[in-house]
Amino acid sequence: AKLTGANRSREHCTELDATAEHHAELAAALRRGLDRGEFRLLYQPIVELPAGTIVGVEALVRWHPSDGPVVSPVEFIPVAEHSGLIIDLGAWIINQACADAAGWQDRHGDAGPRVNINVSARQLLDPDLPGLVADALSRHGLAPERITIEITETAVFAGGVALSTVRELRELGVGIALDDFGTGHSSLTLLRTCPVTTLKVDKSFIDDLNGTAEQEAIATSLSTIAATLGLRAVAEGVETREQADRLVELGYRYAQGYYFARPAPAADIDAALTAPALV
Ligand code: C2E
Ligand code: CA
Ligand code: CA
Ligand code: CA
Repeated sequence: AKLTGANRSREHCTELDATAEHHAELAAALRRGLDRGEFRLLYQPIVELPAGTIVGVEALVRWHPSDGPVVSPVEFIPVAEHSGLIIDLGAWIINQACADAAGWQDRHGDAGPRVNINVSARQLLDPDLPGLVADALSRHGLAPERITIEITETAVFAGGVALSTVRELRELGVGIALDDFGTGHSSLTLLRTCPVTTLKVDKSFIDDLNGTAEQEAIATSLSTIAATLGLRAVAEGVETREQADRLVELGYRYAQGYYFARPAPAADIDAALTAPALV
């Protein structure tokens, strides 16, 4: 039967309620999960080209509920942001990543990888964030240069507060990486106001290398912009040897992706650091 306008909107409402209910349940489960220690960090290597030496790692969170399979951050980070849990979860992530970074600093010295930590828009709106990072650094005896905070441009544009928080973070001495660079509307404008140290060139610009001349022109321009401004450029989502080889030719010095290594537990990173280079 054809839905009338009223029925249509009622059906729409029910769907929304179901989603809201699901979100509330998921938010409560996330809270319990945090209290029970069900979150883990994986680390994905960032390598220096062409040798493939590990110079950094990106911390990527996973949820292991006691009663089910591992849950992807793509599913729970938005819920954690909405419910506000991202503040406590984010604090746990920052502390754990700093603890692991300090371990690598102790065991491997300068060869220990620098650690990138993702923070979401909601966290950047929290004026306590720089203090939280400073506390974690001192708690673990970690030099600020060993940490880079990854932000997205939408997060910075979420409000003026976010920009001043980024400036405070940078003043601590930690690096600032602009994540998914090139995918937003104002990436270039942001480079004038935001104290960025690294551009993470989005996978979408890396996927089509060896494809079209236009793709290569964009990928080249983004690495040129970084070089001109004295920033590092990291190519994200490198999956093939062909891409890695072409990136070297296009002037990229840093890369990350399944071709080099998948996200792995901290202990695997220690093993990889003492093994030969990844390329
Ligand atoms: P992101 O920050 O852009 O992280 C990169 C994502 O791409 C990761 O997915 C990583 O596993 C995946 N990836 C890396 N190399 C390749 C590749 O060669 N091919 C493909 N297809 N994918 C690749 P993951 O771990 O599922 O994380 C997804 C997103 O969830 C992240 O995107 C980030 O936005 C968010 N996220 C993850 N961990 C955290 C965290 O600790 N805090 C916050 N706020 N967000 C996080
Ligand atoms: Ca990231
Ligand atoms: Ca990214
Ligand atoms: Ca992303």
